[in-house]
Parts: sequence; C-alpha cells; structure tokens
Amino acid sequence: MRRTKIVATMGPAVASQQMIIDLVGAGLDVARLNFSHGEYDTHTQMAEWVRKAADHHGRPVAILQDIQGPKVRVGVFEDGPIELIVGKTVRLVPGSQMGSDGVVPIDYEYLMEDVGVGDDVLLADGLIRLIVEQVGDDSLLARVTTGGRLSDHKGAAFPATSLKVPSVTPKDEADLEFGRSLGVDYVAASFVRSGDDVAQVAKLAGGVPVIAKIELAKAYENLDDILSEAFGAMVARGDLGVQLPLQTLPRVQLDILNRTNAAGRLSITATEMLESMTNSPRPTRAEVTDVANAVMSGTDSVMLSGETAIGKYPVETIEYMDRICVEAEKTVTESVDFLESHRTFASATAKAAVEASENLDLKVIAAFTESGSTARLLSKYRPAADIVAFTADPSTYRRMAAYWGVRPEMIERRDSTDLMLASAEKYLEKDGTCEVGQGVVMVAGTPPNQQASTNLMKLHRIGERGRASNRRR
Ligand code: PEP
Repeated sequence: MRRTKIVATMGPAVASQQMIIDLVGAGLDVARLNFSHGEYDTHTQMAEWVRKAADHHGRPVAILQDIQGPKVRVGVFEDGPIELIVGKTVRLVPGSQMGSDGVVPIDYEYLMEDVGVGDDVLLADGLIRLIVEQVGDDSLLARVTTGGRLSDHKGAAFPATSLKVPSVTPKDEADLEFGRSLGVDYVAASFVRSGDDVAQVAKLAGGVPVIAKIELAKAYENLDDILSEAFGAMVARGDLGVQLPLQTLPRVQLDILNRTNAAGRLSITATEMLESMTNSPRPTRAEVTDVANAVMSGTDSVMLSGETAIGKYPVETIEYMDRICVEAEKTVTESVDFLESHRTFASATAKAAVEASENLDLKVIAAFTESGSTARLLSKYRPAADIVAFTADPSTYRRMAAYWGVRPEMIERRDSTDLMLASAEKYLEKDGTCEVGQGVVMVAGTPPNQQASTNLMKLHRIGERGRASNRRR
C-alpha cells in the first residue's frame, strides 16, 4: 500500500468519466478543482465524475476546491502580447486601462503608494523581472532586468511589499458558496498572508477544512500563525519560487514540511513535480528525485498540476508518481513528535498505539473515528503499520483519502465500543486484510460515536474475541 497520497488537478485533458475512472485506478486520492480556471458547469461535471469514479473503484477520493485568492495581475494589451526588452523602461499603471508597448496596466489601485524605488517587480510567474526606478503621480517607471513576452492577465508580484488586498475577493466568496453546494471536501486558500486570512476563508467555507497555500514570502514569514488556523499547508512552489530566490526553495520546502507536520497539520508539496510529463511519457531524473525527496522529507501528499489538467499523459503521470512514492517510502520516515504541544488524550492514545504496533511488529492499526482526527493523529506518528480508519460519516470517509498511510473504510454506527471492535474485526478478516490469529492494534473512543473522544487502545488478536489469549504475537 502506498502511504503518500496523490493530489491531481482536473482539467480539459481528463474531462471524461472514463478518464477519471482511469486516474482513480492509477492511484488518484484527491481531485483538485482549480477555480482560477473553468466554469461552474465544468466543475460540477468534474465533481460528479470523480464521485462516480470513486464508487466504481470502491474507495474514497476527496475533492479539493482551490480558490483563486487575491492574485494581482496585469491587464489586457490592445495589440496582443508585448515584448519587454532588457535595459528598456516601461510604465506600470494602476487600473484597467488598455496596455500597449511600454505601458503595462496592473490591477492594483495602491501601486504608487505601496511600491517604492528599488523594489523588484516580477511578471508572468517571475519569468520577466523589472526594478522600479521612479515613482510618479500616476505610474511607476521600471527598468527591465530580465526580458520576455508578456500577455494578458499574467500574474504580477511585488515580493518586497505587503499589498493592501482583501484576503477573500468577491469571486472567492461566490466560489466558496458554490463549493459548499458541490459538497467539496477541502478548500485550498491562495495568497493568504496570516492566520486571520485563513480564518476568513474558513468562515466562508462553512466547516470545510482549509489548506493554506504558502506562496507569498509573507505567508512563509507568518507560517506558525497560519498553521494555528489552517487544517493543512501546501508548499505552493510555483508562486513561492517567484517570491523567494529560487535557490532557497529546497530549504524553505523542508522547513514548511517539518513545521506543518510538527503542528499535526496536513502537508502537500505542489507544482512542477513531474512537469516534463506534460509532454513526455517519461519524467526526468531530476523530477523523480524531487518527488522522492518530498516523500522522504515527510510530505503527506504530492500534487500534480498541468501534468494532469492539460498534459498528454495524465494516467501515466499518476502511475509514475505512485511508483516513485512507493520506492521512496522504503526509506525510514522520522516520526513526528507533536505530543508536547498537543497534550490530549487522543494524541497520547495515538502515540501509544503506534509504539505498540512497532514493539510487537503488528501490521495493522484499526481506528474508529467520527471526524477523522484519530486517523490524522495516527498518521502523523508515521507508523510502519497500515492504518485502517473506520467511520460511519461519509464526509470523514472522503477526507481521510488525503491522510498519509490511512485506508478509509465505511462502517455502520454501533452503540457500544465492544460492538464496534467486533464489527471491525469481522471486516478485516472478511476482506483479507488480517488472518485469524493475527494481532492488531485497535484505537477507539468510549463512549463511542463522539468527536475527540479517543481514549482507548486495545491489543487484539483476530478471531479470538472474548478469549484472554495475548501470548502470541
Ligand atoms: C503554486 O503556485 O505552486 C500553486 C499550487 O498555485 P497555483 O497553481 O494556483 O498557481
């Protein structure tokens, strides 16, 4: 069983029921709907295909709604794309006027207030770079330091500046409302700068867990504050690589993963992981090593973007991702010690369960969970055992698809802990996960069926219900 989960972006390249069935068959765990592109109709159709494909394969696939956030962009150019030539100056003007050769509109009204002489301006995902030389009354004069072709609506970044943009735009608000009606399982919040920004998105997400995309220098600066509000964090290397010097990205990625895991939050590593597979059936050596390094650094999941959304080989890309993760997981992953800052019955029970499985070399930890939190805690301790997480809640079942090392299973609600353990035992034996006589660790809460009630660990031998036979392993 692969432990690291695979997130893949949906798009035109995979827009059919059969294609999504094939993606899930290849190992897709989380389908990302990117709300920077696409119409509501397309997202609705995609979500339907994902749900049906999950049913077809009899395992959950979570849907992640990625909202656009307050990304600053250049406007529209009257005569098509313009060429920015090194050494030449251009005027950057706030607002939505038409752009032309030498004039670049930027949709940020406080441009002259917030950006100063000497500041870098990065356009088109950092491919084009300018430095501001003069702040005028109605525009900035900037010199091109790295040239390139600039087309409509490309991103504009000002890494030295804290921009006065709202944390949630009117489009995000509408999209979040739509996402709720679709029943998405996660929301990814773009361009957040602080814990407050995450809290605002969370309020509008209506209880759906929020993954904060760490893609601004400011977000990295405020990581601890963000982690205190977010359910998880994504190392969004595309925009983060624009904001920070590229050579710092590996160190920053490792730091974000370590701190996110230590906080007991979900971690995702994203962007350009198998980029060359957008057009080629094989990845490069460097990409394979990059994915493996993310796995060995403790990421919960790895994400594909254009590779699946618009690529020529979406299924093959997921198959490769699967193989790379499985191989990388053979390297021992350090367990995370976050018990100190989260001294709860639940995390102490989870830690004890993982230690017991390791002591006795037991291959399965069976957990009962209402909200998924027990499964998440177990997962964060990175056991060698498989975590089979039983729940009666369909949304918890889907959400747990994103948890490292967790195999979610639906089970009927039972009124007593004993009955729950007995039905899980039957399940594990029947589906071939365990053999009669095999020892398993069971983790539950008593009274049952309540959130955050995990307080019970039982070492159990399959098929020996009620008998006191704990001598053999
Ligand atoms: C990123 O910037 O790496 C990212 C995941 O965000 P997006 O794909 O929305 O640009």
